[in-house]
Amino acid sequence: MRRLWVQLALAFAVVALLSVVSAALLANRQTSADFRGFLAQSQLQESGLAAALAVYYAEHGGWDGVAAVFDNRGGPGGVGAGRGMMRGAPTLVLADPAGSVVYSTAGGVGGRLTAEDRAAAIPVVADGTPVGLLVARSAGQAGLTDAGERFLAQVNRALLQAGLAGVTLGALLGLALARGLAAPLDRLAHAARRLAGGDLTERVMVAGSAEAVAAAEAFNDMAAALERAEAQRRRMVADIAHELRTPLAVIQGNLHALLDDVYPLEKGEVQTILDETLLLARLVEDLRELALAEAGQLRIEAQVVDVAGLLAQASEVFRGLASDKGVALAVSVAESLGPAWADPDRAGQVLHNLLANALRYTPAGGSVTMRALPSTDAAGDPAARASSAPMAVILVEDTGPGIAPADLPHVFERFWRADPARARQQGGSGLGLAIARQLVQAQGGQIGVTSTVGQGSCFWFTLPLCPPEREHHGSTGAPVAGTA
Ligand code: ADP
Repeated sequence: MRRLWVQLALAFAVVALLSVVSAALLANRQTSADFRGFLAQSQLQESGLAAALAVYYAEHGGWDGVAAVFDNRGGPGGVGAGRGMMRGAPTLVLADPAGSVVYSTAGGVGGRLTAEDRAAAIPVVADGTPVGLLVARSAGQAGLTDAGERFLAQVNRALLQAGLAGVTLGALLGLALARGLAAPLDRLAHAARRLAGGDLTERVMVAGSAEAVAAAEAFNDMAAALERAEAQRRRMVADIAHELRTPLAVIQGNLHALLDDVYPLEKGEVQTILDETLLLARLVEDLRELALAEAGQLRIEAQVVDVAGLLAQASEVFRGLASDKGVALAVSVAESLGPAWADPDRAGQVLHNLLANALRYTPAGGSVTMRALPSTDAAGDPAARASSAPMAVILVEDTGPGIAPADLPHVFERFWRADPARARQQGGSGLGLAIARQLVQAQGGQIGVTSTVGQGSCFWFTLPLCPPEREHHGSTGAPVAGTA
């Protein structure tokens, strides 16, 4: 009983039954009344009584003594005298054109024709002028002969058959419709169970009504998203395992060599091992940071930030490294640039990541330049197009090897490296840019890169400019946003 197709088929059958029964009842009543009226009227027409009355009126100039006409014509063999389908004679009524009754075969002159009588009346016309109305009133149930009754019974039988056909058709239609409705639901339930069972490649057929198509498409989108997330999770676990294995292998190899007296137990060897553990520790810390950022759980304490100060601080930190490498480090800040609204520690961390990369990949004799300007000044710069609200744009340009166009879309992915061996050897975890992106987005900014192979790269990020009403306030002390 709870199945959709049973319920729909029953509902259709009941509706069909109700409408057929009510239609039959109404039609039956109306048919028999109309049928009797029609019989009386048609017999009256056949009898030629109207013409006889017209002649009488023309001769006498009025209806006085008209009963004689009815007596002559209405007798046996006259109007409706047991011929055809009518039994017994109908009552004949003659009225003047205004509807006042002047004669009735049932006796009783006076009174008026009803609206029904007038509609069925035959006009009596003498010399082109309507002079009266002739009506035959049927004599009720008893007025039908066996032939008439048979005719009505036939009409009833036809109605009954139509009713039965309607009910059957309704039930069948309901069945077909319910099957069509239930099939996509069944398919969805089946696919959902398989998905829950772990088969993330499961998809449903997109077919049927618009609603069924929408549900199937939504299900398929959900399954695809689940599959992507699962693939990403697997890749992440594999990446992390891979990243941890290399330093661990180095540490293990060196320790074995020390134990087996391949290397002498000297401070220099122990230092190598310590360096590897530091690399491991950094990797683990980066992973933790990235996981927090991706989960939107990084605490961002936004406050008024002097961008020029931020750049000066970063340049101070990297000055030694740059001069060791023989790379020129320059800073330029546009005077029109106002303070930003950001977390100075997080913004500094982004800048450090970009600077460390730029210095790592720029050969001796090259240069690394930090610039900062309002996005309204940065016409033609990709950063300017990236957002509509005014932002502070910070660029880190280097004269390194650049990044191939095919690699550009991947640089912000975690563990992605253009040259894995070289980058790891140089101390890169492959997470620096992925973390930078999360940090920038968490502060309401954007990050990007343009690069020309052989000429260098330009990494840029944006930070919201400080709204004027906040310029004299300190930290909000609360996280402003999760990851974007
Ligand atoms: P890593 O710690 O390996 O540097 P990142 O996420 O910081 O990881 O960078 C990812 C990759 O992007 C690097 O391995 C390198 O191939 C490329 N890359 C990053 N910055 C630069 C740059 N300034 N010049 C050239 N290549 C770069």
